[in-house]
Amino acid sequence: MGALNGKIKSNADAISPGYVRLPSPAPRAGKRVLVVDTDEELANTQRLLGGLGFEVLAYDDSVDPTKCCIALVNPTMDEDLRICQSLSRHCKVMLTTNNRDFQFKIEAVRMGAEGLLARPLDAVEVFSSLEDSRKTSVGGARVLLVDDDELTAAVHAMALEECGLRVAVLSNPLQTEAAIQDFRPDLLLMDIDMPGASGLDVARAIRLDPANLSLPILFLSAVRKKAMQQSAREIGGDDFIRKPVDVGYLAKMVRMRAARSVELRQIMVTDGLTGLINHVTFKERLAAECDRSTRKPADFTVALLDLDHFKSINDTYGHQAGDTVIQTFATHLKCSLRTVDVIARYGGEEFAIILLGTGIEMAEKTIDRIRSEFERVQFTQGQETFHVTFSCGLAEWKESRNAEDLLAQSDSALYEAKANGRNCVIRLMAEGHPRARTISDKQ
Ligand code: GH3
Ligand code: MG
Ligand code: MG
Repeated sequence: MGALNGKIKSNADAISPGYVRLPSPAPRAGKRVLVVDTDEELANTQRLLGGLGFEVLAYDDSVDPTKCCIALVNPTMDEDLRICQSLSRHCKVMLTTNNRDFQFKIEAVRMGAEGLLARPLDAVEVFSSLEDSRKTSVGGARVLLVDDDELTAAVHAMALEECGLRVAVLSNPLQTEAAIQDFRPDLLLMDIDMPGASGLDVARAIRLDPANLSLPILFLSAVRKKAMQQSAREIGGDDFIRKPVDVGYLAKMVRMRAARSVELRQIMVTDGLTGLINHVTFKERLAAECDRSTRKPADFTVALLDLDHFKSINDTYGHQAGDTVIQTFATHLKCSLRTVDVIARYGGEEFAIILLGTGIEMAEKTIDRIRSEFERVQFTQGQETFHVTFSCGLAEWKESRNAEDLLAQSDSALYEAKANGRNCVIRLMAEGHPRARTISDKQ
């Protein structure tokens, strides 16, 4: 752990030096697929998923399953399901089989399989099973610990980290609001008696911002006065824990509450069909990014994506098929971008992305790669197969811009992309002039 410096204890991942500790931007589970099957089937899977940017690997001892997002195991190649069992300790395993015998299912789940995929494999089905494996784990919940007593704070932080929580430690209570914006904690664990501002006042002040109304606050204090504890509860403190506290008990309490907070927030901020964040949350994140980049300059690019002629997909193949397309597209975006990128369902068949630390040139390349991969995804409805494309407008963050400008600009660029014949990525130049540029090579 780093030095405290009277601010937030920080480690190497800090976004502002000496300021707040952020978790490492872990890559999305990656696009590596492990296959236990015949050479012929391996080649088929490579054809099916390779074009979509997946790396398909044959199973052998040298492959590290923790680096794979999924393992596809043919049970005829693994009759006692021992490989399945051993892989399931490290990644999600799906059995590729048409066997639906109940006893077989029992054996499969007992050996760690999480699903059955019909043969021959269908790219969209593989996509949706990837989606399920990306459910947020509450283990990574974030806790902001505000305490001027650095030694106690360090001991508590260590106990919380040991049970899988991500912890940022702040010793100056006056920086709490900024730290909440940067670290986006799921729970605030705060001492009451601190120089500069009491924990109670800090709690009242942060509750002035409606965005912080639902942030759970646990007070931690040596103060034994009943009246003080009472007011801690009245201002929306979820609980009051008396110091000194048994660290095991503290970790358990915090973990439980943080996990519930993650779950509740997940429901509030996400779109039910895709699991992506919703329109309102996206706008909040974008405003926060603009704020952050004004304080500490950083590149980022906003992308608005809209599926092409989607109404006719619904009209031709039905609303259900339309929903599958939307879900598949969402999964494709999640698989293709990094965890740090912010991906939202912006409206019906419209999606919005903040590509963090990414200038417009790189954003163009990234989104265009996703575009060319997505147009190759084959959807099936009964006997018919079809493909779907999207158009995208980009706008780059510049210091004088705010969230509204960026959205308006990416929207104009998207409009240009539609006018330009769709299935392309267009950006407006930095000054916002309508100098559109198409980079996709439409066939
Ligand atoms: P364009 O290329 O210009 O974007 O044409 P479009 O047909 O995609 O655009 P339009 O805005 O005319 O139609 C969007 C359609 O998306 C209409 C709406 O019914 C459909 N849609 C919106 N949300 C959903 C959804 O959740 N599920 C399904 N299946 N369809 C949806
Ligand atoms: Mg559309
Ligand atoms: Mg639309």
